[in-house]
This record gives sequence, C-alpha cells and structure tokens, in this order.
Amino acid sequence: MRALITGGAGFIGSHLSEALLAGGHQVLVLDNLATGSIENISHLEGRPGFEYHIDTVSNEPLLAELIGRSDAVFHFAAAVGVKLIVEQPVLTIETNVHGTAVVLKHADAMKKLVVVASTSEVYGKNGDVPFREDADLVMGATTTHRWAYACSKAIDEFLALAYWHERKLPVIVVRFFNTVGPRQTGRYGMVIPNFVQQALAGEPITVFGDGTQSRSFTHVADVVRAVVALVHEPRAIGQVVNIGCSEEVTINTLAERVLAMTGSASSITRIPYDQAYESGFEDMPRRVPDLAKITELIGYRTRFTLDDILGDVISYFRSRPPYT
Ligand code: UDP
Repeated sequence: MRALITGGAGFIGSHLSEALLAGGHQVLVLDNLATGSIENISHLEGRPGFEYHIDTVSNEPLLAELIGRSDAVFHFAAAVGVKLIVEQPVLTIETNVHGTAVVLKHADAMKKLVVVASTSEVYGKNGDVPFREDADLVMGATTTHRWAYACSKAIDEFLALAYWHERKLPVIVVRFFNTVGPRQTGRYGMVIPNFVQQALAGEPITVFGDGTQSRSFTHVADVVRAVVALVHEPRAIGQVVNIGCSEEVTINTLAERVLAMTGSASSITRIPYDQAYESGFEDMPRRVPDLAKITELIGYRTRFTLDDILGDVISYFRSRPPYT
C-alpha cells in the first residue's frame, strides 16, 4: 500500500511512517512542521518508498495530488496539546476543522480510505469510565478554551461519519488515549515528557491541581500497531474505535514513579489549574478507555506497561541533553 500521512513528521505520525515502511509499504508525508519536526523523520530520508512534503493540507492542489497517488490517507495533522489549545484556540479550531474538511473532500472525490485521528478528549467531562465509543460527549461552556479542542475533534468525527453514511467514503475514526513515547515533546503541555525533562534537569516536578486525577497512558508503538491492523480489517470501516490502555495511574503516583526511575532528587510542586492553564480551567478526574470493540476487531492487546513507557521516554531524553 502507498499511504499518505498528514502530520507525518509529528509524534504519532512519524512512528506510523516508520512502522509502515518497515512493513514494506510506501509512505508520503505531508506536514507543515507546526508542531511536528523534521528531526522526527530525518532518519527516514532516502529510504526506498519514502517521500515528504513540507506544506499544509490547505495547499489543496498538492493535497489532491498526494491523495491521488495513495491507497489510504492517515489524517494525523492536527493542533494538539492542552497548553497549545488554551493558548491558541483560533489556530486549534481552524487547523482541526478546516484541515479535516479538505482532506475528506478530496479523499471522497477519489474514494480513498481515510483514517481520522481523534482523541479521548471528546468524552469531555463524562465521569462514567471506562468510556465506550457510543458514550455521551459531555462538554463545558464555550468560554472555556479547552472544550474547543474536544468540539473541533468531535466535528471532525461527525464529518467523517457523514461522508461514510451519505457518500460511502470509507473512513475509520480512531480515538487516541494519552499516547506517549520517544519524540513526544513537552512543549505543548503533555505530562510525561514534562515530568521526565524536569526530573533529569533536577527541576521541580510540576503537578497541576491536587494530583489525584488519573490517566491511562499508551505506548505509541501499541497505538501504531493498532492503527495498521485496523486498516486491514474491513469491519472497522465506518466505525469509531478507542485505542488506549486500561492501566490507570494518578498524576501524583506518576510523579513519584518518574522520580524513582530517573533517580532524580527533584521536588514535587503543586500548581493550581488556573495558574498552570487559565482561570476557569476544567480537568477530567479520570479517563479510561473501554477496549472491547478494538479487542473484538483486531484482537488488540497492549504490549507496553507504564514502566516500559517511562523507561523509553527517559532513555530518549537522556540521549538528548540538555533534555529538550
Ligand atoms: N499535568 C501535570 N503537570 C504537567 C502537565 C500536565 O500535572 O506539567 C496534568 C494535567 O493537568 C492532566 C494530566 O497531567 O491532569 C495529563 O495532562 P496531559 O496534558 O498530558 O494530557 P490530557 O489528559 O490533559 O489531555
């Protein structure tokens, strides 16, 4: 297969590029380097079947040409990261809504399979964990910027599913739950790269809120393997599928574990949410995926534990002093 990966120089996109090439597929990357980095794909340069274009999906003639040359499109280009979203809501909404709209429009013209990357963020404030794909999405007020991210990705999902129902464009919507691993940057607020960088630099570990909120983290290699398996499963077409891990950890325990695994003498400091993000910020206390659907579709099982993830991220940042 020849795959177009929008956002292919990003964290998850670059791992997907690597996995598809390793599986004997060809890969076209389209990335504007807004949050991605050329460094993420520089090791793939010159590999047979690999090609990249530094441009945006809004360059529709180029987008159409690349879709025309592909068998499937992985639409991973998006504004991500709670910090970025809170600081740049206009960019977030425009990138996520417009970007997905043009990708689906051109893919529809050629009836090419599209995998749309969505997020567990769409479950919003729903407290009824684990989240099944058909659960209600519970959003907060439009004055709280965080929900712009959830709503923009929810619109992407609605649009993708509408193309499937109305026009029979094959689509698969994947909801990623806190995906982590080497190459993820802490720049946009993600907790594990931040904690690891802080621990390695001997700086205080910044726990936001009281630290009793929990998350379930998934290794990017598990996520990528699941995405590749889903595109080979015809029953996944027209479906929304959670991709995550059921191992749950509080942010307090996570901070302790990072300290123990790095051997760092950093202290742990607690920062109220309105200082960490913005006044009125709302966090979700728990976020756990129901994995019944993906298990039934592809026999999904995660291979990496939280300690494996932390070990990989620690090695990654140790190899990049001063821990950037
Ligand atoms: N968090 C934290 N310190 C940080 C970054 C994040 O305590 O330096 C918290 C954040 O408030 C949230 C959790 O860690 O409760 C996960 O945050 P992240 O941004 O990685 O992902 P989210 O699940 O919020 O999308």
